[in-house]
Amino acid sequence: MGPGPSDVHPEVYEALGRSTIGHLDPEFVKMMDEVKALTQYAFQTKNELTMIVSGPGSAGMETCFVNLVEPGDEVIVCQNGVFGGRMKENVERCGATAIMVMDDWGKPVDLEKVEAALKANPKVKVVAFVHAETSTGVRSDAEGLCKLAKAHGCLTIVDTVTSLGGIPVLVDEWGMDAVYSGSQKCLSCIPGLSPVTFSPAAVEHIKNRKHKVQSWFLDLNLVMQYWGGGKKRSYHHTAPVNSLYAMHESLVVLQKEGLQNTWDRHQTMHLQLKEGLENLGFKYLVETNYRLPQLNAVYLPEGLDEAAIRKQLLENDNLEVGGGLGDLAGKIWRIGLMGYSAKQSNVDYCLRALKELLS
Ligand SMILES: *Cc1c(COP(=O)(O)O)cnc(C)c1O
Repeated sequence: MGPGPSDVHPEVYEALGRSTIGHLDPEFVKMMDEVKALTQYAFQTKNELTMIVSGPGSAGMETCFVNLVEPGDEVIVCQNGVFGGRMKENVERCGATAIMVMDDWGKPVDLEKVEAALKANPKVKVVAFVHAETSTGVRSDAEGLCKLAKAHGCLTIVDTVTSLGGIPVLVDEWGMDAVYSGSQKCLSCIPGLSPVTFSPAAVEHIKNRKHKVQSWFLDLNLVMQYWGGGKKRSYHHTAPVNSLYAMHESLVVLQKEGLQNTWDRHQTMHLQLKEGLENLGFKYLVETNYRLPQLNAVYLPEGLDEAAIRKQLLENDNLEVGGGLGDLAGKIWRIGLMGYSAKQSNVDYCLRALKELLS
């Protein structure tokens, strides 16, 4: 019950152990077409360029930045936690300038500040933000931010690593442009893969680049030749065949349950955990309106040594919860209810273990 990786669904483990076949084998190619359709479902998009990057969420992040950002560009980066800081790193390593819009940790991205930054920097073509900040448990208004960016002629790069499969991520309805996620959070797959999707406007932007993408491996113009679909697939790199079996299965699990049911389950489990935690004297860091059900950031009751208790939980109860990051290190816990981990038995187990430890 940490901030990822989450518990892996048993059917996903089963898929992982199947025989490895060639990544250009017709059976595998067929499965890849299904993975694409399932990923489109997860993201609620019709985007043609929807695929799985062979690498963790961080590789998905980098794919979006290296393809959309060119040397000399200006990019607005919203930061309200750890991951916005990584976006800034990415922008700068692309040879571009990051115009930072800063918000306090534990608060959502402030749309008014973003609007002011857009007005003050008319050269900006891309706005980047994190939908669900895993470092603080905050949800930002992705729909509002995407509409605002669009109104100023900008594309968006959106981190949905922790949001996808836990709360609504409506790529087409909200008008998101370059979106990446991760396999190991609410999708409950093994770590190491990153679903991504690009709007037609983002693809157009990539095709009109002046400079070659600096990363050969993540250059979408090349990767598309494999993911392009059908018989035309050609070798770019050897796809992580077994990991993709696992990804396929975790997306099938998601589709079978249905997105709405999955979101509801996360919320129900969150409310139960919240009630139990508050009875034990824990306090939530984030205001109710912006709280993520899948990432419970809580202050411990006064006077407790968080690290010692966290260690005991792991050693005595075999239960992992996350500590705080940055300024929140030593102050909060981050309790995950992600994907397959968001279940009754986990909530009960966690609350029972905490009750015993604290008494
Ligand atoms: C976990 C996470 C990432 C990075 O994913 P990895 O799979 O660890 O590379 C990026 N952004 C957010 C918001 C995350 O929670």
